[in-house]
This record gives sequence, C-alpha cells and structure tokens, in this order.
Amino acid sequence: MSAITERRPAAPRMRLPRCACCNKPYGSRWLTEETAKSPDAPPVYQGNGYVVKEYSYFSGWRPGQTTPGRPPGHYVVQWTIWDGESIRTPYRPFCTLRCACAFADAAHEAGFRVKGGAP
Ligand SMILES: [Zn+2]
Repeated sequence: MSAITERRPAAPRMRLPRCACCNKPYGSRWLTEETAKSPDAPPVYQGNGYVVKEYSYFSGWRPGQTTPGRPPGHYVVQWTIWDGESIRTPYRPFCTLRCACAFADAAHEAGFRVKGGAP
C-alpha cells in the first residue's frame, strides 16, 4: 500500500481575520516542506502537522535490478505540512495591498492626516 492512500485526520477549519477595508476573510495557511528518504518502502509522515500535499517518487535503480557500479535507489516523499494554526497575513490588517491603498485613499478623502505631518 502506498503512503499516499492512507487515511489522515482532516485539518481543522480556521477562523480567519477580516479585512479592515472590505471586511472579507483573508489569510492563507503557513505551509512548510519536509522530505524523507528510505531504501525499502515509501516513508510515512511521522510529525504532528497536517499533510496538505504529498509527492513521492523512486530515485535511482529499483531493488533487484542490476546496478552497474551504483548503489540501489531509494524512495523519496515530499510533504507540504500545515501546523493547524499558523496563517500567513502579509498585509494585516488588510487582505491585499489594493485594499490598503483604497483604505488610505478613503481616509485621505475624509480629511484624515498624519499627526504633525504635511497639511
Ligand atoms: Zn480587503
């Protein structure tokens, strides 16, 4: 059985922050990559995170094949992992730079200025 067909618990749904301009929920999962190799069978993920994506392949000569002067190959599995809570919000408290600029324009139109700044 391949490691990719195993059942895993589903990642929890997150309560996302809402944009200060358009009030839509924003943010994406903070994902990390992990890789494991094994000569015998495809490695199974052992960590605490949620596997979002899995990619596996066999690198090199298969067991039993003739290996002229080269060591036998190995299984490689690459996982994309989410820890279940970290969210990427690069423009907090806005969803996008477009929203940040729209908010700044609206504030300027309404007469708001930086304290002590240019009139
Ligand atoms: Zn927005």
